[in-house]
Amino acid sequence: MLAAASGRAHVDYGFHLAPISRAHIGEIPDLIERFGVTSFKIFMFYGSHGLHGRSADQNAFLMVGEDERYDYAHFEFVMRGVQAARERFPDLAGQISLSLHCETAEIMTAYTELVEQAGELTGLAAYSASRPQHSEGLAVSVAAYLAHETGLPTINLLHLSSGKAVDAAVRMSRAFPHIGFRREVTVGHLLADITTAHGLGGKVNPPLRPRDDVEALWEYVLDGTVDRVVSDHACCREEVKFGEPEDDVFLARAGFGGAEYLLPGLLTEGMKRGLPLGRIAALTSWNPARRYGLRTKGALAPGYDADIALVDPGRTWTVRATESESAQDYTPFEGFELTAQVTDTFLRGHHILRAGKVVGDPVGAYLRRPTRRD
Ligand SMILES: [Zn+2]
Repeated sequence: MLAAASGRAHVDYGFHLAPISRAHIGEIPDLIERFGVTSFKIFMFYGSHGLHGRSADQNAFLMVGEDERYDYAHFEFVMRGVQAARERFPDLAGQISLSLHCETAEIMTAYTELVEQAGELTGLAAYSASRPQHSEGLAVSVAAYLAHETGLPTINLLHLSSGKAVDAAVRMSRAFPHIGFRREVTVGHLLADITTAHGLGGKVNPPLRPRDDVEALWEYVLDGTVDRVVSDHACCREEVKFGEPEDDVFLARAGFGGAEYLLPGLLTEGMKRGLPLGRIAALTSWNPARRYGLRTKGALAPGYDADIALVDPGRTWTVRATESESAQDYTPFEGFELTAQVTDTFLRGHHILRAGKVVGDPVGAYLRRPTRRD
C-alpha cells in the first residue's frame, strides 16, 4: 500500500487501518512500531448491513472466514488491542486512538425494509429514513460503554450526522468523563440537507439529513461541542456512483468528495453564523493534528511545517463539478453559492495550489506517526 501511494499525493498523508479479522488485532503493535499507523477504525454496521444498502453476504464483503464475526464482541477486542498497545508504548499513548463509524445494522436493516415497503419516500429522504438518526445515537452509546469497559480513553466519534447522534455523544461524555471523546462532523452534513443536495450525488453514510439536523449540528459547532470538521473525502466516479435505474437511491453508491469544499464551505456558513476564524483553524487543523499524532502540523509557528492555505473570504463563486480539480463528475453541492475560496496552498513551503489550480509534481509524503518535531 505504501509503495502504491508513494509519489502520487500532492499533500502529506497517513493511513487509518480497520482491524476486520481477529488476526488484524494482533498486528496493531507492529503497525504502530514499524509503520507509524496510530489510528484505527471500526465500522459498526459492517457485520450485517451492506455498505450501500441491503447485503447478501457480509463475510464475503469483509473478506473474513465463516468462523469470524464482525460484531460487538469483535469491537470490544479491537478496543482491548488498541488499549494494550497504548500501555506497551506509553510515550505514544496520547496519539494512539480508535475511531468509530456509529450506525446500527439491525435498526437500518429494519427501517430500510419499512421505507421500501411504504414506498412513499424516494431519493435522499428515503435514504435518511432508512438509516434513522437513533441508529447513530444507539451506536454511539454502545461504543462509549465498550470504551469504558475496556479502559480505552482515546475515542473518535466520526462524522456524526444528526442532532440525536451528537446528543448521545454529549450524554456519553457526562456518563464516562474519563473517556476523551472527540466529536466530528463533516462539511457535507453542515452544508447540504436532503432537499438542497444535488440529487443522489448526496448519498453518503451516515446520510445527509433533513434541515433540522443540519441546524442542530451548527448549534453544536458554535457551542464548542464539536471538536473537528472534516471533508471525509470519499470519491466515487460518476460511472460507479449511480446504479440502474439511476434514480434508485438504494442502488447508488455512498460517498462523495469534499476536500475542496471544506474551507470555503465552512467559512461561507460559519461566518454567517458568527463562527470565529480561529475556531475554523482549530476545527479543521489544530484539533485533528493533536489527536492523530501530527506533531508538526496544525499551527503557523516555529518548528511546524509551513502548510498554509490562503482563503479569500470575500470571493463569491458557484460550485460546478465540471470546474472542479476532482476526477469525480458530480457533487452534491452543485449550484451552491459559496462566499469564500481557497486561492493558494503551500505544503512544507512548496506552492502546490496556485490561483485555484494544482501545480507541480506531487510532493506529498507518507507520515509515520507520531511525527517528530526536531
Ligand atoms: Zn465512516
